[in-house]
Amino acid sequence: MNICIHFQKQLDFFRVNDKPGRQFNYALNRKASVKDIIESLGVPHTEVGHICFNKQEIDFSFIPVSQGILDVQAVSPPFNVGLPSFLRPQPLKRIRFVADVNVIKLGRLLILLGFDVIYSSFYSDEEIADIAEKENRIVLTRDTDLLKRSKIIFARRIRANLPYDQMAETIRFFGLENRISFFSRCTACNIKLVTIEKKDVMHLLEPKTKQYFNTFFQCPHCKTVFWRGSHYDFFKKQISALGISINH
Ligand SMILES: [Zn+2]
Repeated sequence: MNICIHFQKQLDFFRVNDKPGRQFNYALNRKASVKDIIESLGVPHTEVGHICFNKQEIDFSFIPVSQGILDVQAVSPPFNVGLPSFLRPQPLKRIRFVADVNVIKLGRLLILLGFDVIYSSFYSDEEIADIAEKENRIVLTRDTDLLKRSKIIFARRIRANLPYDQMAETIRFFGLENRISFFSRCTACNIKLVTIEKKDVMHLLEPKTKQYFNTFFQCPHCKTVFWRGSHYDFFKKQISALGISINH
């Protein structure tokens, strides 16, 4: 049995080395779900936004049993993970990420923007999938095969090579500009900082810091003290240069 498959242009990233192009006949000699079929052709399910079979919307579990046209469309940005969709009926209540080992710098940058991100150099693919499922986290990775795991529902296969560009890609893809809370979280612990009185941290500060700064924050876990010094201004300039607006 043959089905005709049509991949939307936006999915070329995953299919650029494949010969058949965007529209082709596919010999289906086995009982297979559309998730299996689509992923066997290089596209992880997490990047798919809509699927139709003979113009009728279907989900990943659909098994074609007759000839027809399978139309596969990409998730289109901004991807609001807080809204239910046909393919993802259970939306996320909170924006939280788990970053794969290949995008750890991206993970740290997103924490600087105030997002809840966990990462470790030691997570296996299986652990990342388990974390995504149990903690309802969005997976960020450059490993396409990782995203073929069924436990992962929300994800982004990061395209950009450099961490700052990856950060801009993530913010734009998930439409998060309004949710940035700059320098509100400890990058080491991924915990929200609390305001602390200057007098309580005076003994920890260099003379110039004492002289020029009055507002201080502390990580409740590791006790590191933060203030909005030159590193803050540097980071803010980098973000602005990427065209991302920060309100505060
Ligand atoms: Zn900390």
